[in-house]
Amino acid sequence: MKPNDTNRRLHLVAGLSALLLAPLGVAVARPMPCITQPATCDYDLLCTFKLELEEKILIYETYLANGPRTKSAQAGKRQGVAYKGDLYQQALAGAKQEEPALEGEELAQAAYDRFAAKVAEKVDAAARKAECNELGVTPKPEQRGNWSGMHTDRNDCFGYVDFGRGENRDTYTPDAGKEKATGCLELWDSDMGHEAVHKQLCMERQRSKEKQATTLGSLIEEDISAYRYSIQAAAEALKTMQIRCTTDKNTDAFRKRADQLLGQLTKYQLQAGARP
Ligand SMILES: [Zn+2]
Repeated sequence: MKPNDTNRRLHLVAGLSALLLAPLGVAVARPMPCITQPATCDYDLLCTFKLELEEKILIYETYLANGPRTKSAQAGKRQGVAYKGDLYQQALAGAKQEEPALEGEELAQAAYDRFAAKVAEKVDAAARKAECNELGVTPKPEQRGNWSGMHTDRNDCFGYVDFGRGENRDTYTPDAGKEKATGCLELWDSDMGHEAVHKQLCMERQRSKEKQATTLGSLIEEDISAYRYSIQAAAEALKTMQIRCTTDKNTDAFRKRADQLLGQLTKYQLQAGARP
């Protein structure tokens, strides 16, 4: 990996859905609000926001399962998620093996990039199986949006938008990226909110007199905080669609599953303001 390209970044992992997006015939650039008035039950949106929440839960729990503070938690469990550390170990070992000379922050960043890529693989695998069969609709990736992720630069504490991945990744400022982006504004705003958490932590770090060591563990812990925001935003959007569909009997089975998913969130204590 080219250090200058991949270093000092924290990535937001977006699902494969972003890559499967077919070019739109009439491209309306800029994300537009999907939850609009009048308040109708829209099966496609109900599907999109449930899949979005599922994706964010998968990411969040994978991070929790590899977070150092989960390892040291009582009984090795945190917010109901057991410590595994498998991807943490693989990422660190892989980064050391590829570039044995790396140490300190550079090693942490290289390992983190590997860790994020492993999580992305998991997300992609889940995205390939994503379905909303009970609603009789197939997932609409174009609602999810065409950006592949966002990241916050750890030097300038600015958030950036990415399109494409790996060698094909292009990075834009939020303003320029928004011109190029399509998809639901709710999901764009959710990703921006995730980066805002990184931005705040970045600025606190820069103001702080004592320099905290950047480690793979500290980077994972920072993203655990940021993904808490993502989970909340996804849950709010799904709850709105659930309410809009309550009187539609055809959605009963699907909404029951979605309610179970929303019920899982209580173990994260999102509203309590507790540290993750
Ligand atoms: Zn992040």
